[in-house]
Order: sequence, then structure tokens, then C-alpha cells
Amino acid sequence: MIELTQEELKQHFSEPIFGQIAETADALELECYVVGGYVRDIFLQRPSKDIDVVVVGSGIAMAEALGKRLGRGAHVSVFKNFGTAQVKYKGTEVEFVGARKESYQRDSRKPIVEDGTLEDDQNRRDFTINAMAVCLNKARFGELVDPFGGMEDMKEKTIRTPLDPDITFSDDPLRMMRCIRFATQLGFYIDDDTFESLCRNKERIEIISRERIADELNKIILSPIPSKGFVELERSGLLPLIFPELAALQGVETRNGRSHKDNFYHTLEVLDNISKKTDNLWLRWAALLHDIAKPATKRWEPRAGWTFHNHNFIGEKMVPNIFRKMKLPMNEKMKYVQKMVSLHMRPIVIADDVVTDSAVRRLLFEAGDDIDDLMTLCEADITSKNMERKQRFLNNFQLVRQKLKDLEEKDRVRNFQPPVSGEEIMETFGLQPCREVGSLKSAIKDAILDGVIPNEYEAAHAFMLERAAKMGLKPVK
Ligand code: ATP
Repeated sequence: MIELTQEELKQHFSEPIFGQIAETADALELECYVVGGYVRDIFLQRPSKDIDVVVVGSGIAMAEALGKRLGRGAHVSVFKNFGTAQVKYKGTEVEFVGARKESYQRDSRKPIVEDGTLEDDQNRRDFTINAMAVCLNKARFGELVDPFGGMEDMKEKTIRTPLDPDITFSDDPLRMMRCIRFATQLGFYIDDDTFESLCRNKERIEIISRERIADELNKIILSPIPSKGFVELERSGLLPLIFPELAALQGVETRNGRSHKDNFYHTLEVLDNISKKTDNLWLRWAALLHDIAKPATKRWEPRAGWTFHNHNFIGEKMVPNIFRKMKLPMNEKMKYVQKMVSLHMRPIVIADDVVTDSAVRRLLFEAGDDIDDLMTLCEADITSKNMERKQRFLNNFQLVRQKLKDLEEKDRVRNFQPPVSGEEIMETFGLQPCREVGSLKSAIKDAILDGVIPNEYEAAHAFMLERAAKMGLKPVK
């Protein structure tokens, strides 16, 4: 964070739009302030998008007057129901709202709203760092109004509510998710009283819609070190309420002196690892869900110890339910996550053994264009504390990557379609769709993937005739 004198702070409001707002406000004799995230992000040196302006009076009247002053090129949208208005001008978006006082009822996060002062408006903000305002009126241009010590909290990297946290969280429980999200996004610490209040109020999360929770979760997942957010969700007791499947990964069981690893912390390590390599939200989701079926598949086998057979396939099946419940998209993003979960052990199994062409070709065939993402996931999954073992896997991975490259050039198996189609098989032998057609088709595919024949039409056609003859089929022409 940076510290700024009032003069330096003024510099951040030097764009003409701020001057225009100031003149409009003075002409209407209304106090007006930039507030919230825009002010916070100046000090945190983060890029900011929207500018939020609080007007002590009517935000709509202010936006309309500004629109007139700016003339052509300005676009004003009024949202009467919310008492807000937006002005778009030369790529900048400014949101205007009248200062308001809010009071809440227990069963809803929709407040009863009345007109209020700047102070009332700052009181209803979620965190001290989000409650700072900068005056735009000419006489006080660039003056910071920071009643709750937001600057001090930014210096100390602290997330704290401006009022009693029990009131702030109970009024609008979404703020509990925002609290953990900001701490994770900004690398801040949650103040002790605020955190204790999270624990006390966790059950209130029930009144928040799944979409909003997912939105915050996605922001946590896209943070630089996402594990931080999940650890806080777990410590506060929110995790089992919003994501029971993930919470169930926690814990270690020991039998006959043998323990399995804690799959919750392992998952978080994989998520942090992958976050160093990719900003792809859905690949990060795949990391979070890769072992999600471990609790469901856990068995004790006297010889082998703890096993999690088929956890990748059961995990693949769990993904749609989790996405549906969380109101995440039920589209190709979900299918991609399923595919990653289902295949996540394949590269490591190959790397654990002699790396054969055939195994690598099959992997390439199944993963298609997602092969690089799958390799990234699999590498992130190596969290062994045994350095020697870890190094061995990483070396073998290099080998798998090299082989993938060689075979890709030679065989073109990525997104591969067998060179002889089902249609052609039916025509050649005068068959209707039947089991024989399927079995011939997969025999050709296997022969190519196993390297028995090259991925070419001539070879595949000859192989088909030979195999069909063994099955007693004769060509009709
Ligand atoms: P981001 O854009 O990363 O979400 P932001 O702080 O700009 O961060 P917005 O959701 O755009 O977040 O909110 C703008 C401002 O409105 C916040 O800085 C805060 O002052 C206030 N605010 C938003 N949501 C709430 C809430 N649920 N309760 C109280 N104040 C809120």
C-alpha cells in the first residue's frame, strides 16, 4: 500500500470527468464523494474499474445533470427502483447513488432504505477499507473522509467491519463471504473480533443465494494463494454449510499404525500449486475437485492399507451434482472439469512405470486438446514431501511430455478420428448398424493407439479386411 498527501491523492482525480462531476455537484449544491473500492484501490495500487459516487441528495438528479453537462457522448441509465443511475462517458462508467441509511429484518438481506448522511452511508459499508470516501466538491476536492481507520487497517493488512461485526454480518450475511474473499484476494488478515463474529454468525449464510456464494468462491479460487480462503472458510465453520463435499475431505484416519494423508490440505496444496501455473478458473476448479470422491471410496485393505479405488470415476460422477447445487454452469465448462477429474491419475500412472508409446498415445487420444491442462493438473498433484520421489516423478513427467510431443508429430492422435469410418465398414461388408461394426471400429482404433499400424487410411483399410475375414465377414464388392 502507498501513503499519499492530499495533493498526491488529488492527482488520482485529475481526469476531466471528476472535474465535471465537481462542477455539477456545486451547481446543484449537493455534497458528493467517490466511495468504496475505487478509493481503496488507489492506495493498494490495484487497477479499478467502476467509480462509485455517493451524493448527499438524489443520485439520479445528479447523474441527469451531469449527462446534460457532458452533452453528446454521455449515456445516462436510470434505475428508479434502486435509486441509482449510471453515466457512461468515453469508456468510463460512474455509478451515482444517494447517501442512504439502511435497516434490516432478520429473514432477508434486502434492507429498508431511507435517505441519509454521508456518515449513514459509510456505516452501511462492509469493511473499513471499503468505507473510505474522497470529496469531489470544489472547496474540499481530494479530501479523504475515513471515519473508521481504513487507512490504518490497510497499513496493517486488516479486514475489519466498521460497526459491531455481529450487526454487519447478521444484517447481510453475504459480507461473511466477502470478508474471506477480500482477505484472500488482497493477502490481508481478518481482525480477531471480526473473525469470531464470522464463527458466531455462520448459520446466517443460509439466506444467501447459491449464485452469490459461487461468485465469491470463484473470486477466492482466482486469488494468488486460494488455500488461504478455504482455510478461513473451514476455520470459521462456513465450509460445511456451503461446500460439504470439500469439508468431508478433512481428517486423517490411522489403522494398524498406517495413516492416509489429509485430503483437504493435500487438495489445497494442489490448488495453490496449479494457481502458480494458470489463471484458468475451471482448471483451478478441477484441482479443487480432483480427489473429491476420496471419502466416498475410502477402504481399509489389510494388505494394501488405505485405498481409494476408482475415486477418479466416482469423482467425475459427483461433479454435475456439485455444479448444479452451486449454480455453476452446467455446460462445457462442467464437462471439462469432469474430464480432468476422471483423467487426473493417468499421466502419473504412466510416469510411475516404463513410459510406453502406447500408453502415451492412449492418453493423448482421451485428453485431446486438453492434454496440456491435464499435465499441468497432474504435475500440481505431486505434493510428496519425499524429495527423491518427487524428483523421480517430475523427471518421468518430462519424459511423458517429450513423448507426447514426438508422438503428436508422428501420429496426429490428438482429437483423432479413426481413418476408416463406421459408414465405410457397413458399406464394405453390407452390414446394418450392429455389434460387428462397433467391434471392427474399435479394433482399428486400438491397433493405431497401440502402434500396431500407422494412423493412415491404407494400413487401416488392410487391417479392417484382415480382421473382418477372421470374423467370417466378406466384402460385398
Ligand atoms: P470488487 O469489484 O473486487 O468486488 P469492490 O469493493 O469494488 O470490489 P463492489 O461489490 O463493486 O466491490 O462494491 C463496491 C462498494 O460497495 C464496496 O467497496 C463497499 O463499500 C460496498 N459494498 C458492496 N457490497 C456490499 C455489501 N454486501 N455490504 C456492504 N457494503 C457493500
